[in-house]
Amino acid sequence: MLEASDLYAWYGEGQVLHGINLKVGKGQRVAILGRNGAGKTTLMKCVMNGGPRVAGRVTWEGQELGTLPAFKRARLGLALVPEDRRIFEHVTVVENIEMARYAAGPGRAAVPVNEIFERFTMLGPLASRLGGQLSGGQQQMLAVARAVAARPRLLLLDEPTEGLAPVIVEQLARDVRRTCEESGIGLMLAEQNIWFARQCTDYVYILSTGCVAFEGDWAHFDSNRETAQRFLAV
Ligand code: ATP
Repeated sequence: MLEASDLYAWYGEGQVLHGINLKVGKGQRVAILGRNGAGKTTLMKCVMNGGPRVAGRVTWEGQELGTLPAFKRARLGLALVPEDRRIFEHVTVVENIEMARYAAGPGRAAVPVNEIFERFTMLGPLASRLGGQLSGGQQQMLAVARAVAARPRLLLLDEPTEGLAPVIVEQLARDVRRTCEESGIGLMLAEQNIWFARQCTDYVYILSTGCVAFEGDWAHFDSNRETAQRFLAV
């Protein structure tokens, strides 16, 4: 389980998070919603120790992560797919996946490439294409597939649908949900696309100016439409 307690974050003097409390249970799938600038990306970076100055506690499976660097967090089973995707453009799709398999932590066998192609069916026919020759949607699919190849226990996806065509968003939702369900991977998903978040997750946090403005399951979200209207651009 991941737990953030009284989490504060700053870039220089500018404070972005103001005491976040949040949990992602084992294998649970949680959405982090919020308008532009609400602090979603910053929260993901805090979980990975990837930039901002942080105060408060992040614990993973009972262990306080403290100042543990990002690569060691990855070895514990946390995998972040950042907004800018970061695939390798000059090697092929299959090589991208093979390289990602080396990130599997001790005691966790990486996922075989053929299993990745079964999970992300769009990628199989593109196996020998260079990463840089993929469309934005295909690159996003590859970025998620690379994270899954290292057999994470918690997948952190930062606005994966931004700029993608609806048909790719639907495919990605199916692949992410099924992969997490079947492999018991927890999900922490920062999103502005409520449809996608609903397909992939069971529980919602809404961030507003660096604070948790709402938390609950989707039924609770639906019975509080005014909350969504107030804190989200819907
Ligand atoms: P978006 O949906 O636009 O990505 P977000 O909810 O992910 O927004 P963040 O990216 O976490 O929000 O940004 C929260 C605040 O922190 C914003 O005011 C942003 O301008 C500021 N911020 C983000 N990154 C930096 C940085 N590297 N240096 C300074 N300020 C930053």
